[in-house]
Amino acid sequence: MTQAVKSICGGDAVRVQFGAGVRKTVAAEVARLGATRAMVVSTPAQSSLAMEIAATLGPAAAGIFSKAEMHTPVAATLEALEHLKSCGADCIVAVGGGSTIGLGKALAYRTDLPQIAIPTTYAGSEATPVLGQTENGVKTTLSDPKVLPEVILYDAELVATLPVGMTVTSGLNAMAHAAEALYAPTRSAASNALAVDGLNAFVDGLPRVIADPENLSVREDTLRGAWACGAVLGQVGMGLHHKLCHTLGGAFNLPHAPTHAVILPHAIAYNARSAAAQLAPIVELLGGDNAGAALYDFAKSLGAPLALRDLGLTEDDLDRATALATSKPYPNPHPLSAPGIRALLQAAWAGETPVI
Ligand code: NAD
Repeated sequence: MTQAVKSICGGDAVRVQFGAGVRKTVAAEVARLGATRAMVVSTPAQSSLAMEIAATLGPAAAGIFSKAEMHTPVAATLEALEHLKSCGADCIVAVGGGSTIGLGKALAYRTDLPQIAIPTTYAGSEATPVLGQTENGVKTTLSDPKVLPEVILYDAELVATLPVGMTVTSGLNAMAHAAEALYAPTRSAASNALAVDGLNAFVDGLPRVIADPENLSVREDTLRGAWACGAVLGQVGMGLHHKLCHTLGGAFNLPHAPTHAVILPHAIAYNARSAAAQLAPIVELLGGDNAGAALYDFAKSLGAPLALRDLGLTEDDLDRATALATSKPYPNPHPLSAPGIRALLQAAWAGETPVI
């Protein structure tokens, strides 16, 4: 049974469908977009899923490109673009996590073709007009309405294959969008409500998913959270947490979702010094008296990674990470000080409780 939600992001209407098995409607969605030839994109690890989607598309399948990579390297996009042109595709279907959806967005940015996103993680990229891409070792982001997928198919059967460890880190990655949305300078009553819905879906849903990973009803609850967290990420600007994760991913090649999972409690504890009132919904959902400490205890209870040193960062990297994360000013509720960020990173590196 599928259920539709209409989402508006930056004035653009996005068709959002939820339901176990909803991926099987992909041919009808392609036709609905007025397209006839879709190219399916995925990572190498999910190529068999891409083949399944192509088989479901039948005559509307123009080709498959299964070389999506983390951080959307421009070289891979250009190779995919050649493939897209040679197979005469007039639509893009991206099935996978944020890396695959990033490739679909990068192709749409260059061609303005319509996109259908079929997410298999909770990263939330499908709900934003933001594209991050990497060239010559530098990751840059842009925002453009062309990048926002026209259709999202949230299929609980696909996210049910996400291993428990990745489920936890990807869920915390989604929660990070909503947590930072609570104190974003451009927040509104509507964005706050969306953020709280997203946080609630994961606070309630992640322990239940861990207890029963293949329960499709619980998986769907968390996918609804992924949509809310992704949609709010597309609506308001992010602060210190996303800056730190961007720095650690871009300059030190740390893995995306686990880095978000480790940094979240520390960045939120840092900002709670100036934004305790805005972060109060997190305390209400998780208990305790500090949003950062509450997130640390929650992450620990889920078995999430807690230390950057376990993700490959060395202690010697901390000074450079601090310098990179404080080199340019950006909006953040608590003033950015190099000693403060260095202390935050030290605690996150060692896996200690956040500095309050
Ligand atoms: P990912 O897409 O890199 O996936 C990680 C690995 O898990 C891949 O090998 C993938 O094939 C595999 N995988 C995905 N779903 C699976 C499933 N259901 N079962 C088994 N394996 C599965 O990881 P991610 O965390 O989803 O995405 C990270 C990327 O997304 C980063 O590059 C990040 O910058 C980007 N992102 C962008 C935005 C945006 O708005 N632009 C938002 C969030 C994330």
